[in-house]
Amino acid sequence: MTTYKTKLPNHFDLPRRINRLGELSYNLWWTWNPNAQRLFSRIDNNLWERVRHNPIIFLRKAERPALNAAAQNPIYLELYDQVFAEFDAYMRRSDTWFASTHPNSKDQIAYFSMEFGLHETLPIYSGGLGVLAGDHLKESSDIGLPLVGIGLLYTEGYFSQRITEDGWQEAINNPLDFEGLPLLLVRKEDGTELTIQVEFPDGPVQARIWEVRIGRTPLYLLDTNMSINPPMVRQLTTRLYWSDINLRVMQEVLLGIGGVRALRALGFNPTVWHMNEGHASFMILERARELVKQGKTFEEALALTRPHNVFTTHTPVPAGNDEFPLWLIDKYLATMWPELGITRDQFIDLARHHQSWGETFSMPVLALRNSEGRNAVSELHGLVSRRMWKHLWNTENVEEVPITYVTNGVHTTTWMARRIRALLEKYFGPDWLDRLDDFEMWENIETIPDHELWAVRNHLKRKMVLYFEERSRQRWMQGGYHPVQVIASGAMLDPYVLTIGFARRFATYKRASLVLKDFDRLLKIINQPNRPVQILFAGKAHPADEPGKQLIQEVYRRVKKAENGGRIVFLEDYDMNLARYLVQGVDVWMNTPRRPNEASGTSGMKAALNGALNFSVLDGWWREAYNGDNGWAIGPDADLDAEVQDEADAESLYETLEKEIIPLYYGDRDANDVPVKWVRRVKESMRTITPQFSTRRMLKEYVEKLYLRNE
Ligand SMILES: *Cc1c(COP(=O)(O)O)cnc(C)c1O
Repeated sequence: MTTYKTKLPNHFDLPRRINRLGELSYNLWWTWNPNAQRLFSRIDNNLWERVRHNPIIFLRKAERPALNAAAQNPIYLELYDQVFAEFDAYMRRSDTWFASTHPNSKDQIAYFSMEFGLHETLPIYSGGLGVLAGDHLKESSDIGLPLVGIGLLYTEGYFSQRITEDGWQEAINNPLDFEGLPLLLVRKEDGTELTIQVEFPDGPVQARIWEVRIGRTPLYLLDTNMSINPPMVRQLTTRLYWSDINLRVMQEVLLGIGGVRALRALGFNPTVWHMNEGHASFMILERARELVKQGKTFEEALALTRPHNVFTTHTPVPAGNDEFPLWLIDKYLATMWPELGITRDQFIDLARHHQSWGETFSMPVLALRNSEGRNAVSELHGLVSRRMWKHLWNTENVEEVPITYVTNGVHTTTWMARRIRALLEKYFGPDWLDRLDDFEMWENIETIPDHELWAVRNHLKRKMVLYFEERSRQRWMQGGYHPVQVIASGAMLDPYVLTIGFARRFATYKRASLVLKDFDRLLKIINQPNRPVQILFAGKAHPADEPGKQLIQEVYRRVKKAENGGRIVFLEDYDMNLARYLVQGVDVWMNTPRRPNEASGTSGMKAALNGALNFSVLDGWWREAYNGDNGWAIGPDADLDAEVQDEADAESLYETLEKEIIPLYYGDRDANDVPVKWVRRVKESMRTITPQFSTRRMLKEYVEKLYLRNE
């Protein structure tokens, strides 16, 4: 695919017998293979936790005696040989799903995204959009899809969150240590950096290119922090989602236009160009410019490229869409008009959007008009999107609006606990992962003995609680925290109590405080002596989102109340690591968005595949997944006015907790102390949700419905 081969740095000094650990640390395949993780943790578990699961730093810091001991330990070496046999087989595999279903395909897919959530050590994501993009790349690798990812490398990553004693979110930004991350600088044959150039009003800007290896799938990230660039430009890729619109539009120019140039420089020749959200829409212009340069008119160029463009929208509210004031477009894109052979007005017309406060240049409009593949991310979101954009097709009939949907999924093995995976392997057979989306296979869930599944569930909850207690202990010892903050971070959690998780971005439409609406009623619910309940909150607000930060504060003030007995907690710094503990450890995953604002949501899918039960508003994916027996709904399957909905949903939430969830969890237990009716629901949830809401099903749908729809 590419003519450039990146070289692994040789900064490891490892015993020869185990020296391929260096190579493994630079391929994120290890992140979804628990045995590969054990190759590191078994050398020095303490250090593995201390370096926060970063294998590159781990290998640099590991003591020589520990490495030597591993290299001489037959049990370790057996695991080592087994993992590398699996790794090599995976990398070389030729009978992948894609190869078998599309043997003659010469297609190549480019996937553009502003953020990618691949692992907590590479914090270039803010939330669901990024995690979805990361899961998309991992699944591409699994099914053998010839796909290449393109994005930006943020030198400070996304912020870390700290909550003050008064509940105010503080954002901590630290420069990332690129040498300690799985980033390989792309170099030319003469050893110098391969760079691309993008024009800005103050002159051209250079960007270098980093490769991240995700199994078989490469991801390329652009970064402008180079000494040849002026200081202001060097900062361009410092952070994800600047509030400053100048920096934002510049980042989007770099991603869209620079991204195409980078792929060309690397020698790729994609046949499908996928934009994950509107941030990458400028890509359309660069692709047209290439053809105009070869002599086509702008109209012809758009007509030629349109069939190959795919656009995914994730935004169900008009205000959430990415758009720019026209003066900003004049400032940053004026140089492009003559190159495209069009006037300023023709250019603005490409994406003109009328807002109550004036006209804007809308990134989703640009993409929707110039992509023949267009999709929303759930069935309901498809409906909402067709309604929202019908004016672009001059119709009142939403059925005529050509926006389809592909419901999101999650990369199963990234999110599934090792013990659940082992259980499925035991009862479904060693090749179960190849048949992940085979619904018939999932009927075998009935063969798993209830007590075995329940024992794993309890183990995972204990593991999670111990982890949060350890985090609290660290805070307590480190100092700088008020005792109440230590309790608020989970010091008093109980591993034997019904536990509800609520973790998501703190945007107001997600209504994190809905469950706190009638606080006295909630206290009664959670403090019943024989049937206590714990609620774990986590989530970040965008640093510029004042209402989001106020919402955190509102929640935190409740968390600090002694009356809740330390049973309502707020876990700081929600990231993929914390997400994994939560989705694997809680009993119930609660989600209370104001319908229909949750385009899809994915965290509930991660919880379900680990045996937690969803308890959610019928919005996004859950509206499709809920069947009456695989979790619980909050509120009706209807759109209501905001205030009416808040009231109705809060009432529904409390009532379902009181009358159904708590009695089911603490109710009828069999001779093994297993709540059999609960476990029946868990099995129903795993059976119906895991195959359907996987990236396996999702990506195959992308291939058939969007990527190769004309073949
Ligand atoms: C999965 C995930 C999300 C997305 O979850 P939603 O269901 O969309 O709220 C956000 N952040 C992290 C860290 C995740 O792992």
